[in-house]
Amino acid sequence: MLSKKIEAALNKQLNHEMTAFYHYLAMEAWFEEHNLSGFANWMRAQGLEELEHCRRIFKYVSDRGGAIDLQAIGKPPSTFKSPRAVFAKAAELETDNTRAIHAVYALAVDENDYATQSAMKWFIDEQVEEEKTTREIEALLAMAGDNQSAMLLLNSKLGERAAGGES
Ligand code: MG
Repeated sequence: MLSKKIEAALNKQLNHEMTAFYHYLAMEAWFEEHNLSGFANWMRAQGLEELEHCRRIFKYVSDRGGAIDLQAIGKPPSTFKSPRAVFAKAAELETDNTRAIHAVYALAVDENDYATQSAMKWFIDEQVEEEKTTREIEALLAMAGDNQSAMLLLNSKLGERAAGGES
């Protein structure tokens, strides 16, 4: 059985994952509007991963006999200055989410909840990859600058990401 504190923290984390999904959905839409379908494809795959994270927490809370308490999701931004600004925002989202996951883990340590610590370890490892990838693409976009050929190449490359794929 989950403690009330851990249950509340996991419900909050579930909301973080849904919030991330909603942001990536907005980013996907922005790229589609700007005819950058490769970038949009990458965002679609990224968003679907966040949904999976949400389901993973949902299942864990249910498996432990906890109650799901869904909270409202804030409105994500719908306009961005540039593709680079989108990825800067994505990297910021991932950094914030890492911090949130670490807080759940720290609480599970305080509460001697070993199962939640173990469940959160998967997320901690996942965030290393999420932060790396978003920062890397932001850096590539910084390098590309106003070079349209580089932008088209990146668009094509990110178009190769399959849903459930790694990068
Ligand atoms: Mg996530």
